[in-house]
Amino acid sequence: MYVAVDDTDSVSGNCTTFLATEIISELCSDMDMIGYPRLVRLNPATPWKTRGNGSLVMRFGKGRGERMLAGNVSGRDIFCYSAATPYEPGESDVMERIIPLIGRYSEPDSDPGLVVSRKKPSPLLYWKGVRTILEKSDAEREILRVGALKYEMGCGRGIIGAACGMAWRPRDSTLEILTYRPKERWGTERVFEPLSIREADARLGTTFNSWEERAQKVAMVPSTPCPIMYGLRGEDRGELMEGKEIIKTEPIERWMIFLTNQGTDDHVIRGSREPIPNRSYYVEGTVVGSGRIAGGHVLTEIDSKYGRMIVAAYEPSKEFRLLFDNLSEGDAIGVTGEMRDEPRTLNAEKVRVIRVAERFDKVSNPVCGGCGRTMESVGKGKGYRCRPCRTSAERPLTEKAVRWVKEGWYEPPTAARRHLSKPLKRMGLEQPVEFVNKRM
Ligand code: ATP
Repeated sequence: MYVAVDDTDSVSGNCTTFLATEIISELCSDMDMIGYPRLVRLNPATPWKTRGNGSLVMRFGKGRGERMLAGNVSGRDIFCYSAATPYEPGESDVMERIIPLIGRYSEPDSDPGLVVSRKKPSPLLYWKGVRTILEKSDAEREILRVGALKYEMGCGRGIIGAACGMAWRPRDSTLEILTYRPKERWGTERVFEPLSIREADARLGTTFNSWEERAQKVAMVPSTPCPIMYGLRGEDRGELMEGKEIIKTEPIERWMIFLTNQGTDDHVIRGSREPIPNRSYYVEGTVVGSGRIAGGHVLTEIDSKYGRMIVAAYEPSKEFRLLFDNLSEGDAIGVTGEMRDEPRTLNAEKVRVIRVAERFDKVSNPVCGGCGRTMESVGKGKGYRCRPCRTSAERPLTEKAVRWVKEGWYEPPTAARRHLSKPLKRMGLEQPVEFVNKRM
């Protein structure tokens, strides 16, 4: 039996992953969890998302095969199984036990949705949910088709995310271990040792997005009033368990390992059709020009197969912007980013510099062959002349510029990355040049 919930939190509190641990704790008293619980991120450009547009999906039944420790809730170990027997618990019974938990752990201004189903929705629904904007009716149609039960609160928009998350068949996946603070500590300042996070990051080869070495900053501890202490992301279960021992924090009340689509680039469309706002694309083009605007944002114009486009790198992406500052006319780049409607920009998430163009910078006006003095400019674009000798020249003296940009992939610092963005580390790549406050 698959269970999916979404949209129970708001900026003021609660957390759907915490609700998931409550559901797991309740149902694991007499059922088995099959596989790890799933944290499925959906379209990051969805305008009504609270934060990371995450949907939570679990499967319950009678387990068989390997039994794995998945978490601990209030002192009780929670296990999951690698496979299930044909036995299925009753849908209505499962619904009835979860609904009170949603009531208890959701925010009044959220729009929760719960879907319970024996059958998964079509994988197409996942791809639409992670890449496009759906109507509630799209989810409802699929819920009806697979014979699932649904429960809604508020406007019930959460059933969109719940159904899309349940439809996920991992093509690529990662893991995240989430740890939670005791209830009495929610909303207070989090106590932890930043250097223990640095140590975990350095020691555990497959972990990602936890520590920003350049700025010596922690990226895995939220600053919101939610119940989470930290989330450690990686690819290896053993490493996450080791990380939990290395990372020193105030006491944690529960923890859980989630299977996720974070760091997979599943949201990126590599299509041939004109980009549509509120979707993310990979677009290649040639740089036309680049400049900074008020607020420290950088806008770069490219010539792409869709015509001229503006690529934006916003202030929070910090030194990532220095890459754009250093691009020149003629450079060939590929940009992964979200297409915004207003202003119509492609908001860069990751950039591939495909080819660096040669650039010649002006050194001085040309020298007159007759008298050896530098010529004067006739006017912008009109060339140069030496009045006494009546000589002229079209171009100034130039020299080949040193190009600091090198071919390869570039990404923003950890804190400015999207949950779904595949980090270069997972692509087996390293940024060829680290731009640091112009000191290159
Ligand atoms: P958090 O990450 O903090 O748990 P969130 O960012 O997931 O919160 P929600 O409160 O769950 O935010 O809001 C996201 C809402 O958007 C949900 O109602 C979900 O059903 C809906 N949604 C998700 N993906 C899509 C989509 N592709 N099209 C339309 N609606 C979507």
